[in-house]
Amino acid sequence: MSKLLDKIQTLSQQLKLSQRIMRDRLQLINRQFALLIGLMVLLCFMTLPFALVPTQKEESPAEDGTPIETPDLTEPEVVHEDLGDEPVESQPELSIDDLEKRVAAGEVTATTRVMQKGDSLLGLLSEQNVPSNERMEIVEALELLMNLKSLRPGLTFLFFHEKDGTLAGMSVRPKETESLSVLREKDGSWVTFSQTGRIETKQERMQVVIERTFAGSAKKANVPNSIINQITAALDGEFDFSTDIRPGDTVDIIVESKETPGGVEIGTKQLLYVGLKSGKKEFHKYSYNNAFYDPKGRTTEKMLLKKPLKARPRLSSPFGRRRHPILQYEIFHKGVDLAVPKNTPVTAAADGTIEIIGRKGSYGKYIRIGHKGGYQSAYAHLNGYRQDLKVGSKVKRGEVIAYVGTTGRSTGPHLHFEVLKNGKVVNPFGNNKIGSTQLTEFELEKFQSWAESINPEFKKHLAGKVPPVPKRKPF
Ligand SMILES: [Zn+2]
Repeated sequence: MSKLLDKIQTLSQQLKLSQRIMRDRLQLINRQFALLIGLMVLLCFMTLPFALVPTQKEESPAEDGTPIETPDLTEPEVVHEDLGDEPVESQPELSIDDLEKRVAAGEVTATTRVMQKGDSLLGLLSEQNVPSNERMEIVEALELLMNLKSLRPGLTFLFFHEKDGTLAGMSVRPKETESLSVLREKDGSWVTFSQTGRIETKQERMQVVIERTFAGSAKKANVPNSIINQITAALDGEFDFSTDIRPGDTVDIIVESKETPGGVEIGTKQLLYVGLKSGKKEFHKYSYNNAFYDPKGRTTEKMLLKKPLKARPRLSSPFGRRRHPILQYEIFHKGVDLAVPKNTPVTAAADGTIEIIGRKGSYGKYIRIGHKGGYQSAYAHLNGYRQDLKVGSKVKRGEVIAYVGTTGRSTGPHLHFEVLKNGKVVNPFGNNKIGSTQLTEFELEKFQSWAESINPEFKKHLAGKVPPVPKRKPF
């Protein structure tokens, strides 16, 4: 019996075999007598656990023929759980939990990869250096568990690699509560598992005391880079960590991370709260619906960047009347000219949406972005654009959008930068700010009860005086 079981590899084989055994036994019963029936019942119960183990993926064992008629089938879930452990003793089974434990032990590495638009499973596998023959095998194995057409951007894949680089397995969660995995057997074949188990979200509180620079102190306190970026973004427009931070200032953060039941972290950590004490000033920001709000539910009022470049420019021509360097007569200069080396990255002056991207007469290569508050910003004489941008793309303040050039009517590499308010050009060095938004009553309530749930000090922050947005120094 046990020799037979060892050979059983697949579900259907196992079912058929167990049924054949049952049939054999039944024939025996026909020939022999009631004395044997007692023995038979016993045998049935012994065979049953092995027959039922793989049926967790099989919805109806009846489709293969006569179902196994025993009272135990009325409670199949209990049977699976109670008896499923038994074969493990003789032949250890692979499981995603074991693999995740091996990750924790440092024997296997886990790589998280979030599916992007245009990605395919085959592409992701090739990215993980999986040989082409294995890629197809894995895809076919996963296809047994899910319709691969339902793979969509945003799904998180985990790839597990052995020390020598071979793929030990992979998993994906089509739902928060369901994990599907394909694991490599010792003989090189692939087995699939479907498992329920919720992703656990963990919150962690950290504090950074500034010694010299913010980034340096944060790294020393083991704050990951992605969180450092989120902290500066949360206080963008109100506090400049490169110039305003002082030794002794404190940054208090709450960070959320996601873990599989086996304790493998997936996705990137998210900043939920940042509190900054700098001298007498205090700032408290809570992340809510992809934006940062103060305790009263307001976003920060933000100035448009005056020099939207990744390098310090020389002002080669100011806004207003001037003699044009090429045309040699007085014209109105609709923007500012910022001289920097060719290919210096150009950044968006504020959050917004690309309205124009392409050549525009004497402007050469050109981008215009629409912002809130009736503002638009335009960037001319560019050498090139960031590859993925097109009309309708959303960009964030300070995000690279293009590279400085000298296309169109231009005497040398520089950025011609314009700001428009309600369709009219305004001085880019003027006081151009996009007002804050305030959460409405219902949203505000939801936001505040959430903020209180993650930070017990929220009420104190709400009662405290929230400092006004500090005035920035003029250019
Ligand atoms: Zn200009």
